[in-house]
Amino acid sequence: MSLKILFPPSGEGDCIIGIYVDENNNTHSLMVDCGVYTDEIHQIVKDRLNNKIDCLVVTHIDIDHINGVVKMLRKNPDLDIGKIIYNGSTRLCEDEPEKKRLEKIKQRLVELDPNFIEDEIAAKNAASLTFLIVNSEKWRNIWIENVTTEQQEMNLGDLGKLYFLSPTKESLEALEEDYKKEYVRLFYEMENGSSGSLRELVLRYREKREKEINRECKISASIVNEATLKKYASTNDSIDASISNNASLAFVWEVAGKKCLLLGDANPRIVIEQLEEYRKSRNHQDKSILFDVVKISHHGSSHNTTVELMSLIDSCNFIICGYNSDVAPSLQTIAKIIMKEPNPHVSLRHVFMNTHKYKNSEIEFLKKNPIEDIPEYELNVKTEIDLG
Ligand SMILES: [Zn+2]
Repeated sequence: MSLKILFPPSGEGDCIIGIYVDENNNTHSLMVDCGVYTDEIHQIVKDRLNNKIDCLVVTHIDIDHINGVVKMLRKNPDLDIGKIIYNGSTRLCEDEPEKKRLEKIKQRLVELDPNFIEDEIAAKNAASLTFLIVNSEKWRNIWIENVTTEQQEMNLGDLGKLYFLSPTKESLEALEEDYKKEYVRLFYEMENGSSGSLRELVLRYREKREKEINRECKISASIVNEATLKKYASTNDSIDASISNNASLAFVWEVAGKKCLLLGDANPRIVIEQLEEYRKSRNHQDKSILFDVVKISHHGSSHNTTVELMSLIDSCNFIICGYNSDVAPSLQTIAKIIMKEPNPHVSLRHVFMNTHKYKNSEIEFLKKNPIEDIPEYELNVKTEIDLG
């Protein structure tokens, strides 16, 4: 029996693969998100998963979580998937005029940002995951949508259980409202033929979203010391409140007696509330719940990990996936992990990052100059851990 967690680089985004081999030597697998479907991930799916994923979870609609999934389904039509958990929408274009408008919008979005849809073939054909799923009987039959904290638990048979910590029903509804507003805006400009203003609107929209992400505080490596870390470990940045991240799935995967906390890009406020429910349901006595592994939210951004959240969880294994130009993973988040109170169940806190591409000179500095007099920690670049 073994449980391995793989987190191969997937562009700026996430791709987490859990491989559980049971006592009869049968392999069961869970994949969460795929930002970029790299050759490495393709090889893992072919060789280590034998082209079979028992449960595929797509946490939310952001491209750094979904583009690679679209490519995987297109590139690998023989892939055997047990279930797909994804909060898309079954409603597709019904009439011809609407289909034409959709086509125009799609072309415009690709023109504005060539990375919006990962590969050219996908851009020409099925750009969205929803389209791919709904138009294939094979995928449609195994699709589970509208998954929220209301339903709490899902039994996956041999693959254990999922306990959902996000999104709430309200945050999923807010995403639907946001989509409607954006759609009306795009539509209105399109119908009036004023592509210049459409361009401006879409870019402004994107800039606004990026600003929300880029508010990380910059510091120079020279001030990385115990005092700075203590400050970061005890204070919060503003919380990420982007509508799509609020609608991100986050959950505990319980399998073979292990507990894996996989946070997607979720909002810590929502997660904290649901963790309290989880604690009650599992009769946990200690204040912080011990997990075998924690995948930190939103690529280690300082806006998704708070002091309150960290006081509720602990682990020997923290994973940070991806990077976001020069902002994530942030030192604020790393400080909140490594400066946690000593815990008799945690001898050493590992922080695993899956890429050398982050540009935080402070983290490089911290790796070369470990801070003493705090509980033992290690920062490593790694893409796979074995939970035994
Ligand atoms: Zn993301």
